[in-house]
Amino acid sequence: MTIAFTDLRRDYRELGAELLAAFDRVLRSGRFILGEELDAFEREFSDYLGTRYSIGVNSGSDAIYLALVALGISPGDEVITVSHTFVSTVDAIIRCGARPVFVDVDERNYCMEATAVEDRITSRTRAILPVHLYGHPAHMDPILALARKHGLAVVEDACQAHGALYQGNKVGSLGDVGCFSFYPTKNLGGYGDAGMAVSSDEGIANRIRMLRNYGQRQKHESVMLGFNSRLDELQAAVLRAKLARLDAWNAARRRKAELYRHHLGGTEVILPREEPYARHVYHLYVIRARERRRLMEALALAGIDTAIHYPLPVHRQASYKDAFGDASLPVTEKICDEILSLPMHPSLEDEEIVHVAEAVAGYLSREAGG
Ligand SMILES: *Cc1c(COP(=O)(O)O)cnc(C)c1O
Repeated sequence: MTIAFTDLRRDYRELGAELLAAFDRVLRSGRFILGEELDAFEREFSDYLGTRYSIGVNSGSDAIYLALVALGISPGDEVITVSHTFVSTVDAIIRCGARPVFVDVDERNYCMEATAVEDRITSRTRAILPVHLYGHPAHMDPILALARKHGLAVVEDACQAHGALYQGNKVGSLGDVGCFSFYPTKNLGGYGDAGMAVSSDEGIANRIRMLRNYGQRQKHESVMLGFNSRLDELQAAVLRAKLARLDAWNAARRRKAELYRHHLGGTEVILPREEPYARHVYHLYVIRARERRRLMEALALAGIDTAIHYPLPVHRQASYKDAFGDASLPVTEKICDEILSLPMHPSLEDEEIVHVAEAVAGYLSREAGG
């Protein structure tokens, strides 16, 4: 049995006719940018999340960047975030000319260590940018309380956490702006690049709406330096069809996670944890193991694809290490040598999960036996 890390053909197998109908609708409409499909998708996404405004942009990266620009983040400002994330989170801060200030992550859930944030607040701090990594929400209440106390904005990187709940509320709806990616492998993915910024603040939403469309208030009336960053009609039509399936797909991911837990619970690997305040959507199923490389090789020999998210923290990447390489982030540095992402997608069969789990358990008992 060979098991792929992810399978992007699954949605077409499941939704083929609906997706073709969606494409057909758009192709017949003759409207490909900023049309009815995007309007409808933005409304439906807002309804899903419980936010007032959703603004479709061309990627999760741009959602974060435009959110920061709309909040006025500029050179000299500091934004507190994590290094244990996808590099795009941090790039958005740098693109504003601002300085990322890194805090460590919580060793149990891999998200921003809320208690570490206050120590890093200075007179230059403007925003806090937590990441709901792997589909698990960051502990938002203490972060939001600090933001209120110090007058800071909160931008949520929810690019891996469509539908995840924090205290019963959808992530992305908790801070000033929530940022989503619809990159094909995400829990809600298009057939190309796409993203969304959400907010319940009218002023922020209006600024993001103008920023994505050349800084124009209306056609030929430019009121700010803007960009071309829009979610196109074909992607919007596809994403509308898929949004209707998101909760069922997330529920399927949670059942796979339960199955992994059932079979790996007694072993020495550290399994993902779901905090009492959280409903995890398992964008990734990340375990931790000593000798991670050897486990990965053993699984590869058994035909099982795995991955590492992420092998090198952002502050150690070549692009950033001159500026930030001396940051002291002991948990971040420790876990990046131990984490391993096991196959996780809604269409994996239960037998496939069991097969992966047994391969992991088999490796561990051979190791223990010497
Ligand atoms: C995918 C991702 C992004 C970037 O989204 P793109 O749509 O690929 O630009 C940002 N942050 C995190 C945590 C992500 O997983």
